[in-house]
Amino acid sequence: MRLPTLAAVSAELNQLLTALPGIIVLVEENGTVLYVSPPAVPLSLVRGDRLRSSRLRKFIADAQALGQPASREWDLKRGEERDDFIVHASPFSDGSLLLTFDDVSEAKRLDAVRRDFVANVSHELKTPVSALSLLAEAVAEAAEDPDAVRHFTSRMKAEAQRLAVLVGDLLDLSLLSHEGLRAIDPIEVDSFVLTATDAVSQIAQNRRVQVVVSGERGLVIYGDREQLVMAVRNLLTNAVGYSPEGGVVTLTVTRNGDYVEIGVSDQGEGIPEEALTRIFERFFRVDPGRSRQTGGTGLGLAIVKHVCANHGGDCVAESVVGEGSTFTLRLPVFIDPAGLFDDPDDDEESPVAPATARTEGIQL
Ligand code: ADP
Repeated sequence: MRLPTLAAVSAELNQLLTALPGIIVLVEENGTVLYVSPPAVPLSLVRGDRLRSSRLRKFIADAQALGQPASREWDLKRGEERDDFIVHASPFSDGSLLLTFDDVSEAKRLDAVRRDFVANVSHELKTPVSALSLLAEAVAEAAEDPDAVRHFTSRMKAEAQRLAVLVGDLLDLSLLSHEGLRAIDPIEVDSFVLTATDAVSQIAQNRRVQVVVSGERGLVIYGDREQLVMAVRNLLTNAVGYSPEGGVVTLTVTRNGDYVEIGVSDQGEGIPEEALTRIFERFFRVDPGRSRQTGGTGLGLAIVKHVCANHGGDCVAESVVGEGSTFTLRLPVFIDPAGLFDDPDDDEESPVAPATARTEGIQL
């Protein structure tokens, strides 16, 4: 398609229009299109030297007749999709008119995500809050029966704990998505893996699940220790929680090129293929009942996803229903900048590649 060019407009206007970013169309008083900016091309707004849409032609004609700027929202086809735009028409005194198109699809999508999130949070908070209120009534009614009071108050404690975990996860998620990395230090993988495995040792013991750590030792990555502990702990908590009693969870550390890979595998029920693409979404659960039973908030993997993104890495989930799942964190390995200037012949002192060793599994 040949674009209308700026041959018909003055040199100054030519310069001005080509300097403007975004989707712009300049139309003459008689409706002839004088200029279409390159980003407007995928919208196929123009046929020959006329605007293709009769609705758009009418909108322009009305603005020209009134001699007043006008705006309206419009959804336009761009390739296979329809996107939302605010179209502004600015008529000039000579009858020509400038059309500009603001793409508001992403803002609308984010708005919908935000609304969904608020609705989900409210729903998630409502459950324990309603339970607490009912339990408080039950305690009041059972005031004369100490056993019943003990029973109801212990359930109140469990609901309050659930609320605290949910609020904690929400705060973590909010900080992770807004603040990025709070600290950036070289961190030994062994050290944060150990802290994370320690944190799940009690629930693993309760479920008689063995957690086995193996792989390369002495690897270092660059990042925020607290966030890294959080990510590995969440993967281990899921692996243990979704394992059968007496199952084995393996955490394996490997170096793969410029990345350190931390894989957490379980022998649980696995995740169906159609759910696998959604499990990193906030509040998505394959089986909501099962998730609540394991004390899950539905936010653990969303937190993992943010931690990986903050560190310039990612997390891969693989699963076979009936056999188990493996979640692999891929995080850029730390390369000491001082090492870049070392004498390459001086192997002994070089800090570029930290010493690594393969270990037998450490049973926790
Ligand atoms: P939750 O707190 O519910 O565990 P997550 O965000 O950590 O939330 O996980 C989302 C969902 O992904 C879980 O509800 C569960 O359905 C599924 N899932 C996560 N890890 C595993 C796993 N290791 N085995 C089976 N399902 C899992």
